[in-house]
Amino acid sequence: MIDNYNRKINYLRVSVTELCNLRCRYCMPEDGIPKRDHEEMMTAEETLMAIKAAVELGITKVRITGGEPLVKRGIAKLCKAVAEIPGIEEVCMTTNGVLLPKFAEELKAAGVDRLNISLDTLDPEKFSYITRNGQLQDVLDGLRAAEDAGFENIKINCVLMGGFNDDEIEAFVDMTRKEPIEVRFIELMPIGGGIDFEKQKFVSCEEVLKRVPQLESMEMDEGVAKLYKIPGAPGRVGLIRPISCEFCEGCNKIRLTADGKIKPCLHSDQEISIKGLLQDEMTETLKNAILEKPEKREALDENNPSKAGRDMNRIGG
Ligand code: SAM
Ligand code: SF4
Repeated sequence: MIDNYNRKINYLRVSVTELCNLRCRYCMPEDGIPKRDHEEMMTAEETLMAIKAAVELGITKVRITGGEPLVKRGIAKLCKAVAEIPGIEEVCMTTNGVLLPKFAEELKAAGVDRLNISLDTLDPEKFSYITRNGQLQDVLDGLRAAEDAGFENIKINCVLMGGFNDDEIEAFVDMTRKEPIEVRFIELMPIGGGIDFEKQKFVSCEEVLKRVPQLESMEMDEGVAKLYKIPGAPGRVGLIRPISCEFCEGCNKIRLTADGKIKPCLHSDQEISIKGLLQDEMTETLKNAILEKPEKREALDENNPSKAGRDMNRIGG
C-alpha cells in the first residue's frame, strides 16, 4: 500500500514477546519487566490475523522480533504459519542467538529465510557486562548452529558504543574476510535504556570507515543499510545510521507490538490498538494506521530522545 507521502509500505516487524533472556544495558531495565497478563498480549491467532490483514494491504516481508523471539513458546510453529500465508515473500528473525543451538534447525524447517543475530562484542567479559547476564559462547554457538542448519547471508547486528566496542570495529570487519556474513554496525539510539546510556557512548558509523579505510562502497543500499566490502572478502559490512542520517523518506515499515499496538513510526508515541478486532476490522484499522504514518520523525540526538514511549524490548527492533 502507498501511504500519504508516496512511500510503499511492504514490511512489517512483529514483536512476539516483551520478555528476554538477556538484559542489554541500552535496551532493557536491569530487573527486566513485569510479566503482563495473558489477556493484554496478542495470541498467536491474533498475530496471524494481523499479518494476514497486513498482507491484504501489500506487506510481503515480515520480521519476527521481540524482546527475544526465541523465548516465546511455540515460536517455530508461529513462524511456519507466517511463512505459509499466501503473499508472504520473506520471513526473517532478529534474535540474540542464545537459543539458536536449540531452535536453528526448526526455524529453517519452518520456512524462516534469514536471521539477524545481535552481537556487540567478541570479548566474553564485555559481553557479560553489556548483556548484564549473558555468555558470549552461547551466541557463538548459536551462530554456528544457524550456519549448520543451512542459513545463508546471516547478519550480525552490532550496536556501536564509544569506549565499549569501538576498539573492536576491525575485529568485527575481519569476520567478513573469513565468512559470507554481513556485519551491520548500528548507531546507538536514545530510546528506552539507550537514553541515559547514549549520552557518553554515541559513535557515528563514520568511525567504521575511518578505522577501516580499505572498506569500499558497494554503491548499493539494502533497506536502511549502506553496504561496504573489503575487496575480495566473502562477507560485507552494513552501516545503519538512524542518528546521523534520516531514513524517513524511504521508510517502508510498520511495527506490531506484542500487546497489539501498531506503531507506524518507531520514534513516535502514536499507537493504534488492534487487539480483539475481527479480521475485517483489523484490515481497516491497519489501513488507517498506514495512512497516519508521520512524514518524518522529530529531531533525535542526545538532547532529544526518541518519543517512542517504550523500551526497545517492548517495540521490537
Ligand atoms: N532480542 C533480539 C535481539 O537482541 O536481537 C531482538 C530484539 S532487539 C530489541 C533488536 C535490536 O535492537 C538488537 O539488534 C538491539 O541491539 C537493537 N537495539 C536495542 N536497543 C537499541 C538502542 N537503544 N539503539 C540501537 N539499537 C538498539
Ligand atoms: Fe534482549 Fe535484544 Fe534487548 Fe538485548 S537487545 S535486552 S537481547 S531484547
